[in-house]
Amino acid sequence: MGLGVRAFTRQHIVAIAVGVLVAGMPLVAFNFWLSGVIDRQGQAETGSGARRMIALGESRVGEVIRALDDLAGRGVTGCEPGNYVAMQAAAFVTAPIKEVAIIGPGGRTLCTHFNFSLAADGAAHAVAIAADLDPGQRRVLSSSPLEAGSGYSLDVVRLASGQNMVRLRRLSGEGPNQIAALIPATLFLPQATAKSDRLYSYVQIEARDGAVIGEMGERPKDTADVFTATLRSVKYGFTAKVMSQRGGTVAGNVDLKWLGLIVTAIVILILIVFAMMVPKQLPNNPVAELERALAAGEFVPYYQPIVDIQSGKLRGAEVLVRWRKADGTLVLPGSFIPLAESSGLIRAMTFDLMRRVCVEAGAAIGQRPALKVSFNFAGALFSDETIVQDVNRTFVGSPIKLSQVVLEVTERDPIENFTLTRQVIAALQGLGVRIAIDDVGTGHSGLSYMLKLGVDIIKIDKMFVDAIGTDRNSTTIVETLVDLAHNMRMDVVAEGVENFEQVMHLRNLGVRSAQGYVFAPPLPGSSFLQLVEAMDTLGTEGGEQSELSDQVAAA
Ligand code: C2E
Ligand code: CA
Ligand code: CA
Repeated sequence: MGLGVRAFTRQHIVAIAVGVLVAGMPLVAFNFWLSGVIDRQGQAETGSGARRMIALGESRVGEVIRALDDLAGRGVTGCEPGNYVAMQAAAFVTAPIKEVAIIGPGGRTLCTHFNFSLAADGAAHAVAIAADLDPGQRRVLSSSPLEAGSGYSLDVVRLASGQNMVRLRRLSGEGPNQIAALIPATLFLPQATAKSDRLYSYVQIEARDGAVIGEMGERPKDTADVFTATLRSVKYGFTAKVMSQRGGTVAGNVDLKWLGLIVTAIVILILIVFAMMVPKQLPNNPVAELERALAAGEFVPYYQPIVDIQSGKLRGAEVLVRWRKADGTLVLPGSFIPLAESSGLIRAMTFDLMRRVCVEAGAAIGQRPALKVSFNFAGALFSDETIVQDVNRTFVGSPIKLSQVVLEVTERDPIENFTLTRQVIAALQGLGVRIAIDDVGTGHSGLSYMLKLGVDIIKIDKMFVDAIGTDRNSTTIVETLVDLAHNMRMDVVAEGVENFEQVMHLRNLGVRSAQGYVFAPPLPGSSFLQLVEAMDTLGTEGGEQSELSDQVAAA
């Protein structure tokens, strides 16, 4: 199980990592870009808030200065009844002006445009300055020249009500008095209801000397997460300060945040879909599928009997792998062995097959020392010395003796490292294992070259068996092979024997062993064991074996 699970998880992790890289990097970049945009927008928004405040203040101050200059031009310098109408008119038409006043030399408010009444004759009379006009009631918090040479002073004044006022006082003038106007400090601050200003957490406007004219909101304690813009009016010297929280709630930012959220959600969705598709893609990876099948024990041995055609006795079997899928379908080796070989999985598959044979047929074969069991061994396995130890280890604890094991090397595949292959073969033979050349006559190596490997058995390919009796050349080749084998003390096995005519021919040519459908196809373990029991009853030690042809006829 382990192999398959490992393959699955590795694929998963790789796929998810690729998904995260593919989708995640742009996401990080996008969010980085987006937060940059939001930051820049927040900073710009804060700066333009300060500019708006300065513009607002300058226009208000400018308007008031024009009104006061106009009154001075009309000679309004004292509380004479004739001045009241002009003062009242100025307060009425100049929007920011709350009050027009005449200030005495001691800074005392002498009269305002409120403090007069019209007599019955229509003339205005100054009324006594009321208590609320007492200097104590208009506490001057600070006083600084509006601008060098402007002729005005900007006073910050607090009323008895606690409300702050800006007082613009005209410094130059005839006589001892000064004309002045009060402007509510709130007129210098942005309107709290304005949509675009909701971003600001704190706004403040200061006089040239640093006195606070007005403020709004709460000053953030931690300035790390705050945009700050400070702007000074070149014209009048007051300063506007705007602070806004990073990630404030200006309408544009809200849209951008939603955009970020939506994009993030889409990317997460893509990642989830990607991850979900990974398991479905796995079967498309054939090597992973082979690994999984191997781990799941889906590769099982089939056994094709090899018969002594001289005596009719069972000589052993060739193990042929079958892929028995979970749904019961049986896959022939031709469709997966090439991939198992090219992927290197063939080694694990071959040894797995050997262990299965030991478990399944070990007892039956081990009890009959004359029986041989053949395994197909991919050519590449012979160019690895460690294979010798592995073969030894596989059979050493099993009932099957190493002398009962035959390894078939095919002539079809070219031998990559001849010297090493020969050494490995010799080492295996040292263990008692016998080596067969499979598919003789079909490869390009040439028989003499193959024979230099020092093998024990020659397996004549079906191609020659089919041609015996009809094609003279084939017959000659088989004759030659048999002679050669006998001279070199090798055994000969004929493959793919399908009828008794072929059996007769082979027997006449001196061939000893054969396998093919005429005797039995590759059999599943249980059938093969039944056949072994029937043909080679124990305790009779050789001589009493029944002939396979009878058994096959009975089956
Ligand atoms: P092979 O080693 O030449 O095996 C003989 C093939 O001929 C087998 O095919 C067998 O089923 C088939 N055969 C046997 N008798 C007859 C017959 O009378 N007529 C006909 N037409 N065919 C017959 P199979 O089992 O499909 O195996 C195909 C090949 O796959 C094998 O050829 C062998 O090269 C390879 N193979 C099978 N098992 C293994 C294995 O465990 N490891 C490796 N490396 N290769 C294997
Ligand atoms: Ca074979
Ligand atoms: Ca063969």
